[in-house]
Amino acid sequence: MSEIAHKYIVMSGKGGVGKSSVAANLAVWLSTRGKQVGLLDADIHGPSVPTLLAVNGRRLVSDDSQRVLPIEYSRTLKVISIGFMLANDNEPVIWRGPMKHNLIQQFVQDVEWGRLDYLVVDCPPGTGDEPLSVIQVLGGADGAVIVTTPQELAAVDVRKCLTFCKQLSLPVLGIIENMSGFVCPHCAKRVDIFAGHSGEQMAEDFQVPFLGCVPIDPSLSAAGDCGKPFVTHDPQNPTAQALRHAFEPLLTS
Ligand code: ADP
Repeated sequence: MSEIAHKYIVMSGKGGVGKSSVAANLAVWLSTRGKQVGLLDADIHGPSVPTLLAVNGRRLVSDDSQRVLPIEYSRTLKVISIGFMLANDNEPVIWRGPMKHNLIQQFVQDVEWGRLDYLVVDCPPGTGDEPLSVIQVLGGADGAVIVTTPQELAAVDVRKCLTFCKQLSLPVLGIIENMSGFVCPHCAKRVDIFAGHSGEQMAEDFQVPFLGCVPIDPSLSAAGDCGKPFVTHDPQNPTAQALRHAFEPLLTS
């Protein structure tokens, strides 16, 4: 742990808001800025990171001293996920809390991360076992990056997540409002697929930074399905630029 300079936990109270996409893109972007980065997929029941980075099918191995070697996505980005331990992609993980806690502990303590500038943790939705274990095992993260979508239905759950951070004294590094508007590729008209601007409002209510809005973009989703992180796959795209703009304050000098 002492070899990891910064620990960021990507969280949300709601599923399907783009947490894994944000976590994977943040880790890749940091690694392209010359930093040594680790990406820990703490979503035990629905690991998305292997697919998002096209490293699914890879399997974990140990070194001579029985320490687990993370999968190397690149020279500067190492990844760990339960997805690298399953017999096949259709296999469910049917575990209760204590088993999940043990695995998260192993992912942090028994993995040969080496020296890292950043460890980015992708948490499953909600305020249950996994985020609790991550916070406990990391023993003092820099803070949480909260992902939400514009509409009230998401905000209801994301506010709970913000209160959870407050109660556990986990600083909130900022809120990203994802899937925020859609610009029609045919007529260039902006349509708010999800009504509301809950991200900015929550940042104000909870007095935490607002990192920015990321639009809905079918090409981001398509790139994710092909394992191509959007920030590097199509860097000139306005959605990729919006992601980078949101990540910029998270890059320490
Ligand atoms: P979560 O981790 O919160 O469950 P994911 O990152 O798995 O969410 O994203 C859910 C789906 O939404 C994925 O198919 C992903 O590609 C897509 N998605 C995420 N953000 C966007 C966006 N800004 N525009 C279009 N699709 C998106």
